[in-house]
Amino acid sequence: MAVKIDATGDGFVMDEFIVPDYYQKFSCKGPACRHTCCSGWGVTIPMRQYFNLLGMETDQPLRDKLDRAFRPVLKPSPDRYAEIAHDFRGVCPLHLESGWCMLHAQLGEDALPSVCREYPRGVRTDYANEVSCSNSCEKTLELLFESDAPIAFGRHAKPVRAPMQKLGRTVAERTLYLRTRACCFEILENRTLSLPSRILMVGRILQALDVDPNVDFRTVDLSVAPAARDIPLTYRVLQNISRWFATRNQSIAEICRDNEAFYQEGDLEAKYDAALRHFETVLPNHEIRFEKMLVNNLFFRQFPFVDEGASFADVFTGLAGTYLFVRFLAIGTMRTQSTPEAFVDAMAAAFRVIAHTRFEHNVGILLRDEDAADFATIAKLVQA
Ligand code: SF4
Repeated sequence: MAVKIDATGDGFVMDEFIVPDYYQKFSCKGPACRHTCCSGWGVTIPMRQYFNLLGMETDQPLRDKLDRAFRPVLKPSPDRYAEIAHDFRGVCPLHLESGWCMLHAQLGEDALPSVCREYPRGVRTDYANEVSCSNSCEKTLELLFESDAPIAFGRHAKPVRAPMQKLGRTVAERTLYLRTRACCFEILENRTLSLPSRILMVGRILQALDVDPNVDFRTVDLSVAPAARDIPLTYRVLQNISRWFATRNQSIAEICRDNEAFYQEGDLEAKYDAALRHFETVLPNHEIRFEKMLVNNLFFRQFPFVDEGASFADVFTGLAGTYLFVRFLAIGTMRTQSTPEAFVDAMAAAFRVIAHTRFEHNVGILLRDEDAADFATIAKLVQA
C-alpha cells in the first residue's frame, strides 16, 4: 500500500515534516492560473500583519493601493483583524493585469501577509508535523491528477517558515491521529473495492473509535451491506445541501444554481443518468480522482480531528458529505463540458468551501436535517 505514515510516532525528527508526494513539485502558476486565489475570496489577516503593511516603505503607487487593499473587519480579533477589500470584479486591488501581485513584485515574497505567502500550503504541527496543499488550488489538483497512482507520503525537510511546534496534544492523541490516518488512508486507496464501499468501511472504523479509542483496527467488522441507489432521495438531499452552501459561498454559487436549473424540469432519473454517462465517458478514471481528492483533503484537514469536539460518527458524516457534494456538483457541471480543465475548475471551486470553512460540521447538520445522516441512508446516497 502506498501510504507510509509512521503510526508509532516514534523517532519523529522535529526538522522533518510528512508531505504528500506532489508537494515538492508545487509552485504557483502565477499569471497562468485560470482562477487566481486573489479573486473573490474573503481572505483575512492578523492585526500585526495589517499594521506591518501600513508601515512598510514603498513607492507612492504601491502605497496608494496598499492603503486601500486591506480594511479592518467589523468584529476584529488579533488573529482575524483585516480583510482584502476586493474591487467590484471581486479582485484584490494589488493584483496586476499581468497576473502577478504588486506587493510581491516590488518587495518580494517576505513582504506578503502569511496567508498569501503560504496558500495553498497548510503547515500543521499539532498532532504531527505535516505540510500539504489545498485542493482549492487548481495547481494542486493538476499535480494530483498527473498520475493515477495513489498518493504516497514521505518525509521532507522543515519548511523555511514552519510555525512553532504546537503544545497541548498528548502522546495518546498523537498516536491515535497517526494510526487512524494510516488505517483509513490505506482503506481509501484499496482499489480492489469500489470507492463508496471504501468510504463506508472508513465509517465502520470511525464508529468503532467512538466505542473504544484504543480499538485494534484489525478486529473491526468492516462488512458493508449492499444498498440500492435512490436517485430521488439523493437528489432531494443534495439539492437542499447545495442550495444552502450556494447562498453563503460565492465561489460555488453559480455551479450550484446551474445544477439546480438543469434538474428542475423533466424526468429526474433520466437526466441524472444521462449526465452520469457523459461524466463517466469524459472522465473514465473519475473514481481515482475522487479518491485522490478525498485523501488529500483529509490529510490537509487533519482527519480525524477535522472539527474540534466532533464525535467520530460526525467525522464520518463529514467525510461522506464531502464525497456526495463534490460528486453531485461534478456530474451536474460536466454534463456540458468535456475537458479536464473544466473538472479541475469545478472541484477547486468546491474545495474553496470544503477545505477552508467548517464544511464537515455544516454538511453534517444539513444531512441530519434531511434525516440522511444515519449509516444506512448514507450507504444509499453514496451508491447513486
Ligand atoms: S490558485 Fe494556486 S496556482 Fe492559482 S494563483 Fe493561487 S496558489 Fe497560484
